[in-house]
Amino acid sequence: MFNNDLFTFLKPKNELEQTSEGIDVEYTPEVPEAMWVKCPKCKALLLTADLEANHKVCGKCGYYLRLSARERISMLIDDHCFEELDSDLTSENLLAFPDYDAKLNGAKHKSGENESVVTGVAEIGGCKTVLGAMDSGFMMGSMGTVTGEKITRAFEYATEHRLPVVMCTVSGGARMQEGILSLMQMAKTSGAVKRHSDAGLLYITVLTDPTTGGVTASFAMEGDIILSEPNALVAFAGPRVIEQTIRQKLPKDFQTAEFVEEKGFIDAVVPRKDLKATIAKLLKMHE
Ligand SMILES: [Zn+2]
Repeated sequence: MFNNDLFTFLKPKNELEQTSEGIDVEYTPEVPEAMWVKCPKCKALLLTADLEANHKVCGKCGYYLRLSARERISMLIDDHCFEELDSDLTSENLLAFPDYDAKLNGAKHKSGENESVVTGVAEIGGCKTVLGAMDSGFMMGSMGTVTGEKITRAFEYATEHRLPVVMCTVSGGARMQEGILSLMQMAKTSGAVKRHSDAGLLYITVLTDPTTGGVTASFAMEGDIILSEPNALVAFAGPRVIEQTIRQKLPKDFQTAEFVEEKGFIDAVVPRKDLKATIAKLLKMHE
């Protein structure tokens, strides 16, 4: 006969075999996740410390992991000399676009930034410059009204104080949630670049993966000197859009920085580890 008394004959499990709920647990060693990063390309496990020392370039396959705006800035500037401009400017849902408020909040949370670009004044190799860096973690670096406003103000500050500008780009293009207001930023930033240029001042752009759409079609390609990181996608429309439109297969390296350099749109493809020294040299030459 089956009843509860039967269980009194079972040998009680010791405390290492069961949790308080009576469920067996397997022992798994605890490895702090922050110690390792998986390379998105070759899937190799990389020690975070090694990766940081290598400027976030995979030591196994050479893949360039994306940098946040602040990682980019700290990689380029002389020690602790960044004075941020307009850090409190942030986007609003001007067109009442569905779900945009939630997307903005998510982007702020994910990136820790108020907008998709960080701008400020810094020294690179001892040369004072206005420096901007876009952040792919904020809605893929898309250009909203505030992005355009911050970039425009950075150029106006540089023009007023007779400083060069270094702008590091990463962007999926215009921010569709802001419609025509986003597209207007192409003209607005280009106007500010032109006034800075007319004042005889130097503008260097650093294109990083990916630089596309309205950002490519405006301030990214308007630098006096245009540098790019290796293998970066540099494009207006992406390759898939073009292939679907013209119904032809594109060359394998189409729209890579190297391909665009060969066609004369980029002045130099510079490895990440050499970027600071290259920019410092260019700023020094034009001081
Ligand atoms: Zn790799």
